[in-house]
Amino acid sequence: MQELAPPRRKKGWMNLKVTRVVDETWDTKTLYFEDADEGSCPFDYIAGQYLTFRFDDISERAVARSYTMSSSPRQKGFAAVTVKRVPQGLVSNHLCDKVTVGHVIKARGPIGKFVFDPLLSRPHLIMLGAGSGVTPFISIMREYVDRLGQEGAPRQMTLLVAYRSREDLICWSELEAWSRVPGVRIVCTLTREKVEGSTFKFGRPDEAMFEEVFAGTYEDATFMTCGPDAMMHSLVAFVTQKGVPKDHAQLESFGNG
Ligand SMILES: Cc1cc2nc3c(=O)[nH]c(=O)nc-3n(C[C@H](O)[C@H](O)[C@H](O)COP(=O)(O)OP(=O)(O)OC[C@H]3O[C@@H](n4cnc5c(N)ncnc54)[C@H](O)[C@@H]3O)c2cc1C
Repeated sequence: MQELAPPRRKKGWMNLKVTRVVDETWDTKTLYFEDADEGSCPFDYIAGQYLTFRFDDISERAVARSYTMSSSPRQKGFAAVTVKRVPQGLVSNHLCDKVTVGHVIKARGPIGKFVFDPLLSRPHLIMLGAGSGVTPFISIMREYVDRLGQEGAPRQMTLLVAYRSREDLICWSELEAWSRVPGVRIVCTLTREKVEGSTFKFGRPDEAMFEEVFAGTYEDATFMTCGPDAMMHSLVAFVTQKGVPKDHAQLESFGNG
């Protein structure tokens, strides 16, 4: 059997150069990077992993923050993160306001186990995200959407995602396109805007919404959630009650309570 090469990884802090900045919404931008010296993406990663960025001169002390790759490893030559401003937030606003093409940023990684694991995960991947917590799921969907059912990929994917209003929809045209792929279901709920006659649901994801969206899909599903702690914990409590084992209810905290 052919041996797999170990994943490429740079030791310590990498220098990543910003090659492109894209406005996703009024408060969210995607930053594309490549290795500052060699070009291209200097590491291998798994969809759902994150990088930690370090900034030495934007405040009195060096600060570090983590951002999940929203790009997929199959998109060669770059990595991208999607950053949503946090009111008064130091790094998120710095990234959105001050960082432009050509800037070099220190980063370490990739890090994290919040990924689809072909050996351990069940065939139906069910994802629950809110706000910037959709970023790992954008990466995961980019990675698997066109090869569902193939070796190493889920058979089916469901994403329930919550945004405040239509102006907050991150990567919406891509999500809409994916929702037409057989085996993919995308449900979007708006928490602060009611849109009559649309497919949007209204309100925060809660037990009643889980019951409706996930009905009957507990035995063959692995659940992943990223967003406010209360939402993630309510999903874990809900699926536990449905008999889903702990290993199949993973959560990723962005540290935003
Ligand atoms: C593993 C991991 C992956 C992450 N991936 C992403 C990502 O892909 N995209 C992304 O936009 N962010 C992501 N984050 C969040 C990110 O690391 C920062 O915490 C966020 O950008 C805020 O940093 P800041 O310096 O702007 O705010 P700070 O200056 O640290 O905080 C300012 C204030 O905002 C509050 N706050 C801090 N973080 C949040 C938040 N996320 N939401 C609401 N309030 C908050 C704080 O309590 C504080 O009162 C991730 C975090 C982790 C741990």
